[in-house]
Amino acid sequence: TFDQVSIDLSSVLHETAREHLARTHANLIGGVWRAPETDERIPVVDPATGQVIASIPASGAPDIDHAVAAARTALETGAWPAMPGHARGRLLRRLAELIEAEAGPLAQLEALDTGRPVFECQIVDLPGSIAMLDYMSGWASKIEGETIPVSLPPGTFHAYTEREPVGVVGVIVPWNYPLELAIWRIAPALAAGCTVVLKPAEQTSLTALRLGALIERAGFPPGVVNIVTGYGATAGAALAGHDGVDAVSFTGSTVTGRAIVQAATGNLKRVFLELGGKSPMVVMPDADLDQAIAGVAGAIFFSSGQICTAGSRLIVHDAIHDRMVDGIRRIAEGLKVGHGLDPETRLGPLVSDVQLGRVLSHLDDGAREGAAYVTGGHRLGTGGCFVAPTIATDVAPHARLLREEIFGPVLCVQRFSDADMAVRLANDTPYGLHASVWTRDLSTAHLMARRIKAGNVCINTHNFFDPAFPMGGYKQSGWGRAAGHAALEHYTEMKGIVAKL
Ligand code: NAD
Repeated sequence: TFDQVSIDLSSVLHETAREHLARTHANLIGGVWRAPETDERIPVVDPATGQVIASIPASGAPDIDHAVAAARTALETGAWPAMPGHARGRLLRRLAELIEAEAGPLAQLEALDTGRPVFECQIVDLPGSIAMLDYMSGWASKIEGETIPVSLPPGTFHAYTEREPVGVVGVIVPWNYPLELAIWRIAPALAAGCTVVLKPAEQTSLTALRLGALIERAGFPPGVVNIVTGYGATAGAALAGHDGVDAVSFTGSTVTGRAIVQAATGNLKRVFLELGGKSPMVVMPDADLDQAIAGVAGAIFFSSGQICTAGSRLIVHDAIHDRMVDGIRRIAEGLKVGHGLDPETRLGPLVSDVQLGRVLSHLDDGAREGAAYVTGGHRLGTGGCFVAPTIATDVAPHARLLREEIFGPVLCVQRFSDADMAVRLANDTPYGLHASVWTRDLSTAHLMARRIKAGNVCINTHNFFDPAFPMGGYKQSGWGRAAGHAALEHYTEMKGIVAKL
């Protein structure tokens, strides 16, 4: 019955969000909103309706050069290095307060730009952004070295370490959680004393640009955070390959992650990668089925599956297979599909036509390779980028549907008969980002958690994120850890200093 959504933006949007949409957006470089060196613009499209709602600069290498130079100046000659850690922390907290005060309009802008339900932005993106700034604000004054008891006779040498900011950090983020991911990457870099050039995703730069305005209002010195919008192949590649950048923090697909690594070889800059996943959810026969059904459905259908950690593979015991699949199907078919700005919406469109095409091509291949769609398997309507929540059973082990990240609301189901088989299936993937185990047995839970090769394993939950909890990937899901104090290590260099006494 689903056809087309329409929305009257002028009556729904907060004034701040309306004003932001109406602006002629430029780049934030050295504390100034600077027009790009090119006239080319990127249209900002509402993926629920296909309507063009704004435009952003399609910046190129010269704009990245300006931004890197501004970040370098702020690092070496500006107020930033002179600022004590607690003062940097206070600025991060001030930014958190400004974001909190503008949470409503920011959630709306995010929902409009990404297509994701505003309900999600309110309960995840905004609280998550604020919490990360608060968490990292505390670390800004607690980055310490150590004294080292060297192996020479005591009293002959004094050796110690210090942690220094790594320098200018290039931050490249994807389109699924634009504001939250920008903040999760920027906050540890700033806490460590680095300066930043942020390149948001070309599909979703609106909240990053608004973040720039709030960074200015918070009182960060000019050039500490620079924001340049543009395409990946131009602006992104220029940033990743720039010799004036000391480290690059990339979040996005594994394919682009490889290009980032290549681009970094020129000056051998530090590379930190948060990449894709194909995350397994292992449901044991003793699991609380109601909890597991709701948890698994949420893990794959939240954000229409456009989450790096989305639970895209359900590995379920034979004995409960049919009940699990039927329960998830009922939830899928009951999700309210609609425009992201409708507070009742629980399943929005995919982010773009391109992403819609990718997901539909996966679904076509899946059908050809023999998968059975218990529900979904097709597009919804014709006007927006909507895909029906999909459950695929009988997926062949080598099917593309099962092996590749889809980044859509598509759950692949596999059966197992014993725990060894479950672990084997869970680990049969080039990825290793996130996983979950659903059981009432504590020993089973912890033993399985040990055996699954993933950066995060959740027990009786999935998609768990917290600013204090290290997150990252094994295998082709990335290098390094975001969040927690582990994140700070990427943004500091350890210096060993020794004095002969
Ligand atoms: P993408 O790799 O296409 O793009 C990500 C960013 O990289 C964008 O800003 C893009 O402009 C830029 N980019 C593209 N080509 C580039 C190049 N050659 N050089 C430099 N920059 C370039 O990813 P996407 O489609 O925007 O996002 C979806 C992917 O992101 C999924 O694979 C998902 O799993 C991953 N992701 C990972 C995490 C995580 O924390 N592990 C979080 C969110 C998304």
